[in-house]
Amino acid sequence: MKAEIIAVGSELLLGQITNTNATFISSKLAEIGIDVYYQTVVGDNPARLDEVIDIARQRADILIFTGGLGPTKDDMTKETIVKHIGTTLVSDDEALRYIQQYFERSGRVMTDNNKKQALVFKGATVLPNRKGMAPGMAVEKDGVRYILLPGPPHEMEPMFANEAIPYLLGVTGTREVITSRVLKFYGIGEAELEYRIQSILEKQTNPTVAPLATADAVTLRLTAKAYSVEEAMALISPVEEEIRAVVGEFIFGIDDETLSSKAAKLLIQNGWTIAAAESLTAGLFMAELASEPGIGSSLEGGIVVYNEQAKVVQLGVDQMLLEEFGIVSEECAAALAVNVQRKFGSDIGVGLTGAAGPSPHDGEPVGTVWIGISFKDEEPKTYKLLLSGSRNTNRLRAARFTLYYLIKYLTEIEG
Ligand code: ATP
Ligand code: MG
Repeated sequence: MKAEIIAVGSELLLGQITNTNATFISSKLAEIGIDVYYQTVVGDNPARLDEVIDIARQRADILIFTGGLGPTKDDMTKETIVKHIGTTLVSDDEALRYIQQYFERSGRVMTDNNKKQALVFKGATVLPNRKGMAPGMAVEKDGVRYILLPGPPHEMEPMFANEAIPYLLGVTGTREVITSRVLKFYGIGEAELEYRIQSILEKQTNPTVAPLATADAVTLRLTAKAYSVEEAMALISPVEEEIRAVVGEFIFGIDDETLSSKAAKLLIQNGWTIAAAESLTAGLFMAELASEPGIGSSLEGGIVVYNEQAKVVQLGVDQMLLEEFGIVSEECAAALAVNVQRKFGSDIGVGLTGAAGPSPHDGEPVGTVWIGISFKDEEPKTYKLLLSGSRNTNRLRAARFTLYYLIKYLTEIEG
């Protein structure tokens, strides 16, 4: 089965709104194994919508429309399709009652054009609208299914998930389930990841392996089709193992885990406390951690030691050490970590120092960052980054890399 998504609305063409409806519908269709080959956008113009339908029904079995179901003049999706497929509109009693109640509840007077919203195609399956007035509908003509959905995402999304998906499952007669597992990577670019697992990517059909880069991670989504979730997971597992064998060192989490949620989970579950001394990031690392609920039992506090004097006076970093090795150095990062751990009496201390840019800092080129992590009485571990972004990208990446290395280190200790 192939579907085409047709978003109707001049405001989409004018760039005033983003076509999130198409994104949503495409991702839901992928989950039930319906292919989308085309997404189309057309303005509120009957002639051009007509043209679009002519083309779409040649190349898709299911046409999914969003927008233009409302009561106003520019809402003409129904009227256009009705002519196109040569059917008629009838008033749906239930939808009309719902619209009337909607007006009664809000104490407003219902105008006549609102009745138009209760009109549906004769013989259509009506898709009730629980979040608004205009119902959706689905109808078949000459082997092509036409599904009409409202434009506002808060109406369309629940209608699609709760009404249209069951309808489509009935149409495709599928009993298959689609299960996904997402592997989350940090410290490796999308291109390098794809390159390194190229042979795995190429041979996959079930599960499919799809890479995606987002702002804070690179992900691989493994999606399998089978007759049960267990069966689907059994298909996914060996492929996941294969991927882990090649690039497992960069995996920090799965599914909806983020760097901060994973780090917080490790800290909280093990009852470890943490404190941080931040120079170039000036609190970004702690802010990331603090975004996680429940972190209060682990995050004790920290200190921003931005200039040299603060490092020496506030945290007792040895002046001689800074003179000998420099501020942006492995030794400084380790000292920050150890000293802040001692100051707060925490299990873990984190130190961050670096040259964020735009100019070099203490002789070190822009983008050089040193991270120190000290755990209990262990020798502090240190990590060097060479970042290539702008000042604030570098600062954010430094904080995120620190979360990443913290996860790796704590996972290792957890064994
Ligand atoms: P209404 O009854 O609210 O008029 P409608 O079904 O007639 O709904 P439209 O008038 O086309 O839908 O769009 C209403 C609003 O829904 C738009 O102003 C926009 O905010 C949102 N919307 C419409 N289409 C999309 C889309 N493809 N993606 C995201 N938002 C959309
Ligand atoms: Mg409208």
